[in-house]
Parts: sequence; structure tokens; C-alpha cells
Amino acid sequence: MGRTVGNKLLSCGTAAVVLAAFCMLARAQSAAATVPPVGGQGAATDVSWDLTDLYSSAAAWDDSLARTRAAAERLTSYQGTLAKSAAAMFTALDAISAVNREAIRLAVYAGLKSDEDLRIASNLERKQQAQDLQTRVAEKTAWVAPEILTIGAKTVHRFRVANRPLNERFGFFLDNTLRSAPHTLGAEAENVLALAGSLLAQPDTLHSQLDNAELPLPTITLSDGTSVRLTKPAYEKYRQVANRADRKLAFDEYWGAWKKFEGTAGSLLATQVMGDHFTAQARKFATALQSAQFPDNMPDSVYRSLVRETNAALPTLHRYLRLRKRLLGITDDLHYYDNYPPLFHIEHVPQFSVEDSKRITLEALQPFGEDYLSLLRKGFSLRWMNVYPHEGKASGAYMSGSAYDVHPYLLLNHNGDYESLSTFAHEWGHAMHTLLADHAQPFDKAGYSTFIAESASLGNEMLLNDYMVEHAATREDKLYYLGAGIERIRQAYFRQVMFSEFELAIHEELEAGRALSGARMTEMYCGLLRKYYGEAEGVMKIDPAYCLEWAYVPHFYYNFYVYQYATSMAGGAFFTDAILKEGAPARERFLNLLRAGGSDYPYDLYKRAGVDMATPGPYRALMARMNRLLDAIEALEAQR
Ligand SMILES: [Zn+2]
Repeated sequence: MGRTVGNKLLSCGTAAVVLAAFCMLARAQSAAATVPPVGGQGAATDVSWDLTDLYSSAAAWDDSLARTRAAAERLTSYQGTLAKSAAAMFTALDAISAVNREAIRLAVYAGLKSDEDLRIASNLERKQQAQDLQTRVAEKTAWVAPEILTIGAKTVHRFRVANRPLNERFGFFLDNTLRSAPHTLGAEAENVLALAGSLLAQPDTLHSQLDNAELPLPTITLSDGTSVRLTKPAYEKYRQVANRADRKLAFDEYWGAWKKFEGTAGSLLATQVMGDHFTAQARKFATALQSAQFPDNMPDSVYRSLVRETNAALPTLHRYLRLRKRLLGITDDLHYYDNYPPLFHIEHVPQFSVEDSKRITLEALQPFGEDYLSLLRKGFSLRWMNVYPHEGKASGAYMSGSAYDVHPYLLLNHNGDYESLSTFAHEWGHAMHTLLADHAQPFDKAGYSTFIAESASLGNEMLLNDYMVEHAATREDKLYYLGAGIERIRQAYFRQVMFSEFELAIHEELEAGRALSGARMTEMYCGLLRKYYGEAEGVMKIDPAYCLEWAYVPHFYYNFYVYQYATSMAGGAFFTDAILKEGAPARERFLNLLRAGGSDYPYDLYKRAGVDMATPGPYRALMARMNRLLDAIEALEAQR
């Protein structure tokens, strides 16, 4: 799914400064990175990022760690001072902000350094030290929210009027904290919740260990006699192959391996759901969904609109699947293992170097205007990217934009195919979002919500796809890009909304007091697959053996993350349409949305940019796009 880290480590935005407990439970989005492209070319070390922009040496990092640790310890000295005066409140929040800012920079360096080569133990130790520091900061500031609530809205308002820097940097944070009054506990209880943070993160760790390392995996023999050990990346490679028996074999064996752990996987996910439920209850939320949506102040109506509109749009997905069946030449039933082979094969698969990717991305993003493009050119010219795959390097792709005083960094695993090009445009969309927000906002309001983040990146992918279709040299190439564009919508939208429905359903099952077993989850997942893939409509036959797919999806451990990916994609479709139709005014609204960073609630920021995410508009814009792509394929096919 997502390829991004988006605002990694800043996912709590301002909240990271003080709403410690919320942040402890918020997810660093690094886990949303995609599985690596399989079969990338050999290593290259020259196209690598320059981490000395963060710290000149490992020793400089150590020095800063020691200083920041000491500064974190001193933060409790501000306890009890916030009510004294507006200036005293500003001094305390400023000191906390400064510690947090450096703690994040330390964590960014540790994370990036570690991802350069995961085999180096000292890198992992540094990462652990940076995490410990962040936990320490959270503990040392757990008193802040309760103290602000004791001071009360009236006095806080008076302070804000009296002190301009306090208002400008921390006004939104103060509002947000006051809003959380019904869900904020006393200092002692807040501290307990902060301490519980790492314990509540364990189901994800356990799942990852099973999923990525310890699940016993079978070796299969393909029709050409090749033996393949069915790791997760291998499964994701062989499920796409043209040979139907081979991809069915990959499905059967991979899910057969998971079937033996259905109970374990179910218990793991149930424990995660219980943890979400625990936090929600402790904070006096009616449901885990409400608890997850609270930091963004997201109205329930957004989730409901997304699900309603997507269910209403299933005929569009079914139209695509019927076309897929026809194009793949399947004469019996379409199966779940027929989802992944490309719609069109081309003789010479197009290849894109990094220089090609830069040039094409700049051309495809022309609609964003010169300011955006010149900033992008500048980014391209500097050493912000770690481009090629090599032994030991982290898989997938992400943008890390949390080092406010430095610049974004991008980790790619570029292997030259169209997906690599698309990932390139995607991650640079996040980087541009970060640059625009950081230029326009102080540190305390720069970190943006996931809910907006993916509009900036998926929008880029859509503009790129349109550009590739338009500039394709041959009819075959055109069809190839159209097919890739449609499949992206299935995977990044329909699949994510289906995941969202599943995620809500398992939470509701627990909240209704029913037992959550692996078998029960499989049954629920089967129901969703049947609905989405149109079994009753005769579109696809769902094999119960594959209804265990929930077991390997890491995103169910990210506390209602997936639906934001889908809404963002709809937002991206809405804005790219508007910009192409309207030009400059729509472009400015969109760029201002990016510049706004985390200065307000994401739903309100979208609204200010001209789109209400609780209405059908953005979802229908995305479906119109999908139908346009389908129309284009059918028109080209008709010419054949
Ligand atoms: Zn992304």
C-alpha cells in the first residue's frame, strides 16, 4: 500500500510537545513503507544522502544526545509555573519545544543511519537511545496537559491575547489541549499511560517478527522447474506472474503457511484491538474509532462518507474486474489470484534512470507552477536521497521530513521500472509538502496530518500517470500506463477502504463484547472480499483459503491509519482535477493547504482549500477518474 513515511515522527505534530500519552500511541508511519521491489539491480553507493547536514559525525550525535537528555531532565522544573503569567507559559512551552525539536532530529539521524545498513548493531543501539530519549521527554512533560486544563480556557485566552509569540506558536496547541479536557487524566494517570506506551506497541512488534522473520515458509516449484522460497517479497512477486498455475500455487502455499498460524495471528491482532480499546476506555472515549480520530478532531461523517461512497462505487471496481478477466483471457471464473498480473504486457518494459525520473517528474508536475518546480529542482540538486537498493539497506521507500531545521530525506529502492518512477514522484510529493510547510510555519505547527499527507503524494502519482499516458510513444505503452493507473486505484483506494471496514468491524466486535478469534476474523474478511469483489454479481469467485489475508497486513496495527490513505487519495484526485480545470486559483488553494502544515485540524484545512471530505465530491472525483481510464482502455481496445 502506502509508500510513505509522510511526516514520520512528527505524526503527532505539536502534540508531540506535550500531549505525550497521545503521541506515545500514535504511530510512526515508517511502517507504512512498501515492500521492496523484487529483483532490483546491484548496489550503488554514490547516489546517497548526506547525513552530515544533521550531525557532522557520530561523536557530534553523541554530544547532542547527552545535552538533550540533560535538558529533558530539567523540564520538570517548569512544572507549576504555567499559570504564573503569559511570559512564564511561553518560556516553559518554548523550552519543551526546543528539547523536542532536538530529540526528533536525533531520532531522524538514528533512523536514517540505521536504514543505510540494518545489519550494523551500533546503528540499532543509536536508534534505541533516540527512542528512549523520546519516551523520557514524554514522561518529563506528562504534567503539561493536566496543568493547562487546571488553568482553564479563560486564563489561557487572556495569556494568548497578552503574548503574541505564545499565541502564534502555541495557540493551536493550547486550543487542542483544552479541547481534550474530557479525555485528559490527572498527572499521575497520564504518567501511567505514558509508561504503558511501549507495552501497547508490542502486538505490532510481535506481528512483524512473525510476518517478516519467523513464519515457516514453503518452497514451491514453478512450472518452469524453478524452486522459490516463498518469502513475503517472493509471494508478492509471484502473485503477479502471467502463468496462472504459478500464481495460484503462490497463493495456495503462502496462505496455507499462514493457515497454520491463524490462531496466533488472531490473538496478536485481538491484543492490538484490546490495546486500542484500553486506551479509548482509559481516556473516556465511547469507541476506539472516536479515540483514534480525536487528535485530528475528525468528524465521524468523513469515515461514513468514505465507506458509503465506496460501496456505492463498487460497480466501477466490478467494471474493472470484468475488463481484467477479458484482457487476461480467463474463460472460467475470475479468482482472487487473478488480481495482480499487469493488465497489459509490453515487449520492452520501459526503464527510467534517476535522471529520467527527475526530468519526467518535473515535466509531469508543471501544473503546480514555477514556485513548486524551482523548489523541486533545488531538492533534486542536493544530496537528500538514498536511491539504490543494496545489501542490508531498509526495504521500501519513504520520506523523512521531521528534522525541521535541516531538510527532508528520501529513502528509495529505485530499480528503474515504472513503479520506481511513480514512487519517486510520490515521495518527492511528501518532501515538497514538508518544505512548503516548514517554510510557512514555525516548528510547532509544521507537522501535518496523514489525512492530508497522501494527497500531496498520490496527487503527484496521478499527474505522472496522466503525463505518461499522454506522452506514450506507442499504443502498447499507452495501455500499459492506463492499466497501471487503474490498478493503483484498486490497491490504494478500494483495498484500503475494505481494510478500513475490516478494522472497524473487528473493533466493534470486541466493543460489543464478542470474542475475537482468528477464525472469526477470517469469516469477517471473507464477507468483505465477497462484497468488494462482487461474488453475488458473478464478478469473482472468492476462495475461503485466501480469506486469511488480514493476517499479514501490518496496517491493522496502526490504529485506523488506512482510511486516511483512501480519503487522501480522493483528496488528491479532487485537487488534480480542479487544478487542470481551473488553473491558478485551484493551484493556490492546494499549495496553501500544503503550506498550512499542522496549523489547524486537517478537516478544516481541506475545507478552507475548497473540499469538504464529509461530502461525496472527492470520492466521486476519484471514481470519475477511474472510469475515464477504463473508457480510454476500451476505446483503444476497440481500435484493435
Ligand atoms: Zn505516501
